[in-house]
Amino acid sequence: LAKDEGRHRVAFFMPALNTAVQTRLALENELRQALQQQEFEVFYQPRLDVATGRLMGAEALVRWRHPERGLVDPGTFIPACEDSGQISKLGAWVLEQAARQQLHWRQRGWALTVSVNLSPCQFADPALLQTVQAIVLETGCDPQDLELEITESVLLGHDEHTVQVLNALRDMGFGISIDDFGTGYSNLAYLRHYPITVLKIDRSFVDEHSQARPITGLIVTLSRALGLRVVAEGVETVEQLDWLRTQGCDEFQGFLVSPPLSVTAFEGLLKACDPHPSSGAAVPW
Ligand code: C2E
Ligand code: MG
Ligand code: MG
Ligand code: MG
Repeated sequence: LAKDEGRHRVAFFMPALNTAVQTRLALENELRQALQQQEFEVFYQPRLDVATGRLMGAEALVRWRHPERGLVDPGTFIPACEDSGQISKLGAWVLEQAARQQLHWRQRGWALTVSVNLSPCQFADPALLQTVQAIVLETGCDPQDLELEITESVLLGHDEHTVQVLNALRDMGFGISIDDFGTGYSNLAYLRHYPITVLKIDRSFVDEHSQARPITGLIVTLSRALGLRVVAEGVETVEQLDWLRTQGCDEFQGFLVSPPLSVTAFEGLLKACDPHPSSGAAVPW
């Protein structure tokens, strides 16, 4: 009887497991094709100076323009890209697009810092540095106009390879920011050991209903002591922005001003700004 039950369980579970695996494999194949067929697109979310409201930069955020499903958010396909080893290729593509876009805007008088997300998996790729160097050479971009966003998890390993890669990227001129800061490991001592230039405070610290809100003041104080800039993510209300100003936060991004935009929409925003954008432009919102 027990054996029968066991067999029954197996018969019951295996098809479900197979379905999950098959769905994942199908997605990974689709992603491979999507890369070949150039179905990805980079959106840009404006980043503004808290004190002046001027446009300082933008975060590059990838989207998948799926032929049937429409615009797909990265949360649904980045993990599959990471698991199937495709994130290095996609990440390099996003960086190249962002570098070209930054140059294009700079040539038209818009001096913006463009930030690009790097997956922890890209640090496991021994070719990361070479890939980035090739993009810099090919595009002719100035790394000082670009910022690479990493997560705290990248720093946790304390491995020599990661330190060397980060130092090399910083030496090339790239800004290095820690994304979703405060949500990861709480050992702050590591900050001094890495060439970090910016802390991006996770939006969970910005929300007025969050018990974690007082931490923001501490992060700002910490960043001042370390000579880093502080950017707040996910600002949705005027109250949040006013409060960030009292905390001395440098820059912010969020739905209050704009969601991530297609290049066309972002350029619409640029054109609506101050026509003399040499030191950033006031965004009408
Ligand atoms: P992230 O880097 O922390 O990006 C911020 C996310 O917050 C974006 O989601 C953005 O649309 C969203 N956001 C911005 N303002 C607000 C706001 O006011 N309220 C709320 N609720 N959300 C806001 P998105 O574009 O869906 O990206 C999600 C995550 O996917 C990113 O989080 C990043 O970790 C990852 N990602 C996006 N593009 C790339 C990429 O090119 N490479 C890699 N490795 N990861 C990427
Ligand atoms: Mg980010
Ligand atoms: Mg973030
Ligand atoms: Mg994130």
